[in-house]
Amino acid sequence: MDLGIKGRTALVCAASKGLGRACAMSLAREGVDVTIVARGREALDKTAEEIRSLRGGKVLAISADITTAEGRSAALAACPQPDILVNNAGGPPPGDFRNWSRDDWIKAVDANMLTPIELIKATIDGMMARKFGRVVNITSNSVKAPIEELGLSNAARSGLTGFVAGLARKTVKHNVTINNLLPGQFMTDRLKSRSVLNAEAAGVSLEQYLETRSKVIPAGRFGDPYEFGEFCAYVCSAQAAFITGQNFLIDGGTYPGTY
Ligand code: NAP
Repeated sequence: MDLGIKGRTALVCAASKGLGRACAMSLAREGVDVTIVARGREALDKTAEEIRSLRGGKVLAISADITTAEGRSAALAACPQPDILVNNAGGPPPGDFRNWSRDDWIKAVDANMLTPIELIKATIDGMMARKFGRVVNITSNSVKAPIEELGLSNAARSGLTGFVAGLARKTVKHNVTINNLLPGQFMTDRLKSRSVLNAEAAGVSLEQYLETRSKVIPAGRFGDPYEFGEFCAYVCSAQAAFITGQNFLIDGGTYPGTY
């Protein structure tokens, strides 16, 4: 299926690894010119090289912290008029809300709510004027089913979801859609490193821990970031122009609700 986005430009945030990287790879396979952003240079250059080898298309790799104003300026200087914007950043740390200071809350809201809103603000009017735009926010399954120790994430991402729900209905008549992708458990570096710590705390081997954890996913396994990237590419496709303001759970059936 041709997704009809060959030659479009995409700004993909937090994209040297994991889910952001998978989105950039899937978009690049469709012929989209991608600008990828992450802080660490090494992984960023490696991913950029992998994308180039996929199709030899244009890839820009910007080393920046997307949660800062300077980082966002650097990303937008490299890709000032994206047709596709994939918002992503690291998630806030787990913990007990009794220990979180105002500063901890501001950091989480800044990274996982205000950063995507700032990037949408900088790019959406251009998309509407050009009559094509796709914004995808990578949020979390915690938006639908809160995860107790991830209160900072539950709250900041829900704030973004509420904002997007309103805006997405205003932009769609200009062929600009805004949707959220809610990952369940995907086998990324983040999941691996958190699993190492959790396995240690539980006094079991990493293999035992991962096996137990994967068994509670109805699919019986963790998600492959490739599956996430391909779904993102579809949501960014020409064919997806009638889909906006949606929250797509990609979780192997973990969310137990009927709706
Ligand atoms: P990951 O494998 O750790 O990859 C994170 C990527 O984001 C890396 O490329 C990292 O590169 C970049 N990054 C992090 N903070 C950044 C910043 N401030 N500015 C620019 N780039 C930044 O993580 P992931 O599993 O793909 O997770 C992506 C998002 O999905 C996170 O918000 C996570 O909480 C959420 N999520 C993931 C899962 C899952 O199962 N994997 C489930 C639910 C929600 P640098 O560190 O070099 O900047």
